[in-house]
Amino acid sequence: QARNIAIYGKGGIGKSTTTSNISAALADMGKRVIQIGCDPKSDSTNNLRRGRSIPTVLDAIRSGKKIETEDIVHEGFGGVLCIEAGGPEPGVGCAGRGIIAAIELLKQKKIFEEFNPDVVLYDVLGDVVCGGFSVPIREGVAEQVYTVTSADFMAVYAANNLFKGIKKYANNGGALFSGIIANSVILPVHREIIDDFADKTGATIAEYVPRSETITRSELRGQTAVEYDPDSEQAEVYRNLARAILKNQEKYVPAPLEAEELKGWAESWSDRLLIKKEEETGVKTPS
Ligand code: ATP
Ligand code: MG
Repeated sequence: QARNIAIYGKGGIGKSTTTSNISAALADMGKRVIQIGCDPKSDSTNNLRRGRSIPTVLDAIRSGKKIETEDIVHEGFGGVLCIEAGGPEPGVGCAGRGIIAAIELLKQKKIFEEFNPDVVLYDVLGDVVCGGFSVPIREGVAEQVYTVTSADFMAVYAANNLFKGIKKYANNGGALFSGIIANSVILPVHREIIDDFADKTGATIAEYVPRSETITRSELRGQTAVEYDPDSEQAEVYRNLARAILKNQEKYVPAPLEAEELKGWAESWSDRLLIKKEEETGVKTPS
């Protein structure tokens, strides 16, 4: 029985980087993995394939030709099966619909049955308030949801929106939450901010992932850190994260903050950051 996991997060926050490194780490452990990019940009799996992009499922459907499995499923690092759902042409239609069409076609082609994966990872652009992007949650495509967030307010804001979405569908067979992946953690305060948000919303932290130059260099080679520099600290972080995800059976409904609460929370951090700075520099900011 495959574990179906969706990884959400604000645009540009590191979903594809994180997801690809988890896939690569799991593949290295001998797991059979499918990674499905649910993002109209369709670049989720590029770093599993030396930077090369693959044709999308929606493109294949649009071509009107008979679709063979090889047209939409491409092998990447460690035998990970890479799939990109694709999206509508810019400005036309709902991007989320591509996800539905892609999943339907994969079922029809019996790709899940044939490959018999241990883990299926969905990399979902999830900051847009669009019904389509909630499909993996709403339709029970995934059972477990993770979110990638940094300590930046907009990323936390997106995570809080995701929590609202999970809560909305939780009683109707929707996917539940399994943890925050804290990305781009450099300073202790980044960790404090994300920990505090997790505390306030009753969420758990799956792993803290530092911002790392290893990722920058790996990406420039079109690779994951797990492939490019397996002995690096960053690769070890992703292996730990992959192990944590395999072990983590926890599923719950987080408690999103109301708009006013979130605003108050953000402002309290503004004050705390100022106090920290004053303590560090010894300079008092005039009020
Ligand atoms: P999109 O919403 O556009 O699909 P995304 O959430 O998938 O974006 P990525 O493409 O994974 O984000 O990452 C965005 C950029 O940030 C990339 O250049 C990536 O290399 C960089 N990045 C992400 N995480 C880290 C990290 N921990 N250390 C260094 N760079 C990182
Ligand atoms: Mg991405």
